[in-house]
Amino acid sequence: MPPLLDVRDLYVEFRTRDGVVRAVNGVDYSVDAGQTLAVLGESGSGKSVTAQAVMGILDSPPGYVTGGRILFQGQDLLTLTPDARRRVRGARMAMIFQDALSSLNPVLSVGYQLAEMFQVHRGDSRKVARAKAVELMDRVRIPAAAQRAGDFPHQFSGGMRQRIMIAMAMALEPELIIADEPTTALDVTVQAQVMELLADLQREYRMGLILITHDLGVVADVADKIAVMYAGRIVETAPVHALYKRPAHPYTRGLLDSIPRLDQKGQELYAIKGLPPNLLRIPPGCPFHPRCPQARDVCAVDDPPLYEVTERDGAPVPGRASGCHFWKETMYG
Ligand code: SF4
Ligand code: MG
Repeated sequence: MPPLLDVRDLYVEFRTRDGVVRAVNGVDYSVDAGQTLAVLGESGSGKSVTAQAVMGILDSPPGYVTGGRILFQGQDLLTLTPDARRRVRGARMAMIFQDALSSLNPVLSVGYQLAEMFQVHRGDSRKVARAKAVELMDRVRIPAAAQRAGDFPHQFSGGMRQRIMIAMAMALEPELIIADEPTTALDVTVQAQVMELLADLQREYRMGLILITHDLGVVADVADKIAVMYAGRIVETAPVHALYKRPAHPYTRGLLDSIPRLDQKGQELYAIKGLPPNLLRIPPGCPFHPRCPQARDVCAVDDPPLYEVTERDGAPVPGRASGCHFWKETMYG
């Protein structure tokens, strides 16, 4: 069986007045039904743009997919008509954004907005749709759902609003959900609850989940595998625990070292020096070399491919790859 979603060698450009912004440069990733892929990177790494291309909601112009394939259950979404694409979106794949307040309609009650999904897409009567909306609010653990269905988005807390966003995304029971920084705007305790809810629903419905985040701390418990992005490409992929245990790319190591840890309270937190590259002018060689503590002369000229990562003794490690010439040193010292 093909993966649920299989993105292959994807390129996305934005044509701006200042030149071509190379936002996505040959990304490959896949996710199976019932699996969670975390896509990790700083802002501007191309993780959101890749997701927008998958959803078919790229801002175009100026954004264009200039190469690659996006296979959803074996079918290339890039070959679909806009109408067919729209039918896939919402019903078969849905997206959750960071900012629920701007994604919900402020002048309609949340119950109405949820019910509308069932009326429009399922042809349900108002009464049936309304009952389904309340059931859904209950399922995303909104207390007193029946009473609260008439409330407007601003009457809910940030965490509750994000649950409503999850309910909207889940309404039509899509096979794939893409969540872009779904908990970034929330405080830490609420973050954990929302993430747990998302993970529970994902398991219950056996959906594929792509979790986009800049925060390695939130994915450890929920993701099966991780793709780390930098300068519009994937620089490391790995099963989640393997990556935490032994990163195979200096950038990933930097991200791991910058997670606050309880046992290091009070110590200054490590930060990767410098800024992500300007995508109008991606550095030659390894795009990470201006910031890399392990960079050598060759790194400034020789662009690393994604190397297959092996055990120390050379045994293959399925699903692991690193875009660093010196991944062996990074991993094994
Ligand atoms: Fe650093 Fe060189 Fe590896 Fe790039 S290829 S991550 S610059 S060591
Ligand atoms: Mg983003």
